[in-house]
Amino acid sequence: MAAENLAVSRETFDNVILPVYAPAQFVPVKGKGSRVWDQQGKEYIDFSGGIAVTALGHCHPALVETLKSQGETLWHTSNVFTNEPALRLASKLIAATFAERVFFGNSGAEANEAAFKLARYYACKKHSPFKSKIIAFHNAFHGRTLFTVSVGGQPKYSDGFGPKPADIVHVPFNDLAAVKAVIDDHTCAIVVEPIQGEGGVMPATLEFMQGLRALCDQHNALLVLDEVQSGMGRSGKLFAYEHYGIKPDIITTAKALGGGFPVSAMLTTHEIASVMAPGVHGTTYGGNPLACAIAETALDIINTPEVLNGVDARREQFVSALQKINEQFDIFSEIRGKGLLLGAVLNAQHASKARDILNASAAEGLMVLTAGSDVIRFVPSLVIEPTDIAEGMARFARAIGKVLN
Ligand SMILES: *Cc1c(COP(=O)(O)O)cnc(C)c1O
Repeated sequence: MAAENLAVSRETFDNVILPVYAPAQFVPVKGKGSRVWDQQGKEYIDFSGGIAVTALGHCHPALVETLKSQGETLWHTSNVFTNEPALRLASKLIAATFAERVFFGNSGAEANEAAFKLARYYACKKHSPFKSKIIAFHNAFHGRTLFTVSVGGQPKYSDGFGPKPADIVHVPFNDLAAVKAVIDDHTCAIVVEPIQGEGGVMPATLEFMQGLRALCDQHNALLVLDEVQSGMGRSGKLFAYEHYGIKPDIITTAKALGGGFPVSAMLTTHEIASVMAPGVHGTTYGGNPLACAIAETALDIINTPEVLNGVDARREQFVSALQKINEQFDIFSEIRGKGLLLGAVLNAQHASKARDILNASAAEGLMVLTAGSDVIRFVPSLVIEPTDIAEGMARFARAIGKVLN
């Protein structure tokens, strides 16, 4: 029997989906590059990139080609068997980074969960079961499992779900003195985003990051960098840690890794990985051949001088357009971030208008994101066409004009 083609609309959402999201009023049905179309055929320019995921735009021909060819070859075997795409992707991630061992998962939260468990387990095996303290930061975001929301620095995401994992301490971001005050020999890890994404598009300072590295070394703690959002070329380097002249112990990456196909990875050294043994941790889907084949193609394209060097040129186009808008409307106090992880911070007079601006942008045919109540976030495709940036910024200016009138 042929499947019945059920008519669905934005209203259907309220009747069928768990109400944990508040999606836009339109329903995207098709995308190509940095353009998206909704059910009514209205066109949007996409500066949101599926939340920093579609780093090569929508339906990139090379990713579609891999999806089709791997889709006709082998989708899933589980980790009872290994597979060629996973082995190739892991080898290429190792060749491109500090890392020597890779664990694959399906989401950012899952990669972070693995990282936090590994940090605790390593400390337990190498030092003591009491070396379990994790130092993390206010406004940090690490995902939605109970461990990752608890390490995250926004209690509104972790309150109400019962007892939280213990021995997690939060201090202000970019405040080295605050870390010094709480770190001790019972600390197993410092967990930090090199550029806080959800927390407001806030880069770590050079001094802070290098200071964290030194404190970890002093106390035999691991430096765990959550590069779920900042990784895979977003900052203009393959991973944001490369901006800081440091070598982390563990990094996680997810969002752009599969260019829109769900896949994540935790990267670490051989020495740290060596405390693990079969059965200590795992996942059914992680490292699935379909996901890894697509991620391998995405990595092959992103990890090239053409794409990585193009990020800063596109950033400059964004920044200068935003500065022009600011000359006209006096609405931003600061444009911050790194590469194509950009935040336009609303000034005091316009704070809390982020959501209105997002909605007005959608009406003008532009997809943007917020980060908190006073930051508009732009995380477009890393290969967005300059003409799309220009047209998107024209739409953004019209949207701001409407909100301010
Ligand atoms: C999005 C994000 C996560 C969570 O990723 P999911 O795929 O939603 O689980 C974790 N850390 C950071 C920095 C993120 O931006």
